[in-house]
Amino acid sequence: KLYNMVQDLKGNIRVYCRIRPTFRAESKTVTDFIGEDGSLCILDPSKTLKDGRKLFQFNRIFGPTAGQDEVYRDTQPLIRSVMDGYNVCIFAYGQTGSGKTHTMSGPSGGTSKDMGINYLALNDLFQICNDDGLSLPDARLRSVNSTTDVMTLMKLGEVNRAVSSTAINNRSSRSHSVLTVHVSGKDTSGNCIRSCLHLVDLAGSERVDKSEVTGDRLKEALYINKSLSCLGDVITALAQKNSHIPYRNSKLTLLLQDSLGGHAKTLMFAHVSPESDSFGETVSTLKFAQRVS
Ligand code: ADP
Ligand code: MG
Repeated sequence: KLYNMVQDLKGNIRVYCRIRPTFRAESKTVTDFIGEDGSLCILDPSKTLKDGRKLFQFNRIFGPTAGQDEVYRDTQPLIRSVMDGYNVCIFAYGQTGSGKTHTMSGPSGGTSKDMGINYLALNDLFQICNDDGLSLPDARLRSVNSTTDVMTLMKLGEVNRAVSSTAINNRSSRSHSVLTVHVSGKDTSGNCIRSCLHLVDLAGSERVDKSEVTGDRLKEALYINKSLSCLGDVITALAQKNSHIPYRNSKLTLLLQDSLGGHAKTLMFAHVSPESDSFGETVSTLKFAQRVS
């Protein structure tokens, strides 16, 4: 009964959009309206109202006032389906500063208030394990018994994560962060269950001005752009039910292969910043999301 909610999810690829609150009271926001049906209209600040409108469609839109609980409520059925043996992959996509890490991990500082999907999902998985006797042993590296154990491991990962400050946001990260949970055990009828959950906080999707960066930073930027476009190609190919899915074009898609396609369920959060000066990046994020949905 717990898992019936999964059937509410139509199709295996869902795309949600999340718009973060603006931090500058004086700046105009690009959002024109958010429809109950998942439509989002944004306004090009350089055009007149009539020609400057662009309309996009999502499975769900979270506006600036939506809290972490509200976002998690619509994510939880996917997390629970991991315990039914489905592989699941959840991504946060968007330009630096648009709220990807906020959605996946929560606010900086690591307080337990406003924790993100990583934390809430682990809590749920451990809760379900404790209720039905499944175990969530770790894998070859460390065994974990609680969400806190995993968060401690995540902190270690965070330290190792290549972080370099940019003009936009000094918490910005020029690398992908992937938290993978392998679940194995038996269901109540004694059948073996084996599944995995990938929780992915992608590197910022913003285009880098090639005239401004050189050397390793440029190589890194080109690599990030390539892996994000490969991810887009894979999800687009899946959405179009193509016979060939180009997993092998990037390490990222190879790593996530078992959770993209087949019976796996995929959820992408397209993150956007509301300020007018982010209009260009906002349009490219929304187009990326539209391409895969
Ligand atoms: P990204 O990971 O995409 O670079 P962050 O998640 O670090 O962006 O968000 C940038 C800043 O905005 C952070 O200080 C974060 O706490 C804040 N923020 C992002 N989304 C929200 C939100 N929905 N509500 C409140 N603050 C947010
Ligand atoms: Mg981030």
